[in-house]
Amino acid sequence: MTNHNHGHNHEAPHSHGHASAFEDMLSVEQAFDKVIASFQSLEYEEKPLLDCIGQVLAEDIRSPLALPPLANSGMDGYAVIQADIVGASPAKPSNLSVIGIVAAGHMPDKTVVPGTAIRIMTGAPVPNGADTVIPFEETDEVERKREGKPLDRVQIFADMPFGCNVRPAGEDVSVGMLVLEKGTSIRAAEVGVIASLGMDKVKVIRRPVVAVLATGDELETTGTPLSGGRIYDSNSFSVAASIISSGGVPRILGIARDNLGDLNAKLEAAVGSDLVITSAGVSKGDYDIVKDVLNERGEMNFWSVRMRPAKPLAFGHLNGSGGKNIPLLGLPGNPVSAMVAFEMFARPAIRTMLGKSRIFRPMIDGVLTASIRNDDGRRVYARVEVELKNGEYQATPTGPQGSNILTSMSKANGLAICPDDLSGKDAGEVVQIIMLDWNEEVQV
Ligand code: AMP
Ligand code: MG
Repeated sequence: MTNHNHGHNHEAPHSHGHASAFEDMLSVEQAFDKVIASFQSLEYEEKPLLDCIGQVLAEDIRSPLALPPLANSGMDGYAVIQADIVGASPAKPSNLSVIGIVAAGHMPDKTVVPGTAIRIMTGAPVPNGADTVIPFEETDEVERKREGKPLDRVQIFADMPFGCNVRPAGEDVSVGMLVLEKGTSIRAAEVGVIASLGMDKVKVIRRPVVAVLATGDELETTGTPLSGGRIYDSNSFSVAASIISSGGVPRILGIARDNLGDLNAKLEAAVGSDLVITSAGVSKGDYDIVKDVLNERGEMNFWSVRMRPAKPLAFGHLNGSGGKNIPLLGLPGNPVSAMVAFEMFARPAIRTMLGKSRIFRPMIDGVLTASIRNDDGRRVYARVEVELKNGEYQATPTGPQGSNILTSMSKANGLAICPDDLSGKDAGEVVQIIMLDWNEEVQV
């Protein structure tokens, strides 16, 4: 695990003139393995059911009851004894005496005996004695109503099989059954299943709190006028949004200026979070300050990852209070690099903390409609729009692939991969694509 760490943390702090000599050059997999090793599933919390969507069950759910609790009717009709309707047809109906009615939510107060029937509604318990329900459509009910006849008798027009339209007790769930396993992600269907057992709270793995810190003298806060030479801080927002869609809770720490004092002060607010994500200040030219501060406050590694975009990456730990170290991931500053590095490293880490068994995005094979170039032996993640056309997934690069071109990220629903060892992929070639989205707008 650690053979790529040449102990550069112990270099003199101002070794930046030779920074590249001390950098670790890692494959995406090597960097990923080192990052993910620091994360595990968090503790559980008990919460109201509807607050748990997207979280992972921390307990097995066993049923305290049978579902349905009683045998009940699957149709509006007549509860009968099947032996009474053998051979019934419109020409030769079975004629029964109607002795009562039972609606959903009420218990029948009579027993069906030979020659009798009870009118029954969908979901109502099947009365004792009855074994079969004949829907209204197979009786003279409609005709009787139209003609104003009393409903004290009924003619059955169909010979239906024993048990027809009766939903047996425990058909869906039996008492004590393991209904949902620990580790299951809670979606709408699971919310429904849990509610059907009468439970209003569940134990789930808690969501990680992820602190977000932007760094840079050039950054301006949104909502304020832009002064000369500055740009708005977009990384705090794209990263926070990515944290939310990964299932974490962002804690925005703001913008740290490129000086020791400010960076130190802003990092104080990270205490108590499960992960800190910074952006910028980790590339060759300018990582001195971030590097110095982080090394002083914990143990950091600065890597070059063989990927494009998002080559520079920092990962390590801040020494927390009470001996609790907080993992820190330093994303590159360029807006697309920050998002792609988040995808590759932060999202799987957050999903690991959430207790998810699936931590990766779905991948598909698609056909390129235009080429992707790879000039320097890094793995390329090209922003593409994937569409289903003529029965195949077609991937079209969304324009200029510079790591500062954030709008081309917005147009993309996937990242097409050109392997490290290829000089490119041509139009017509099949590529693997990490799907960032499977939404209705893009019909894939
Ligand atoms: P750096 O890693 O500090 O050299 O930053 C690389 C590039 O990303 C520079 O052009 C920065 O201006 C830009 N950048 C850094 N942080 C942000 C941010 N929070 N929002 C938008 N752009 C940023
Ligand atoms: Mg900077």
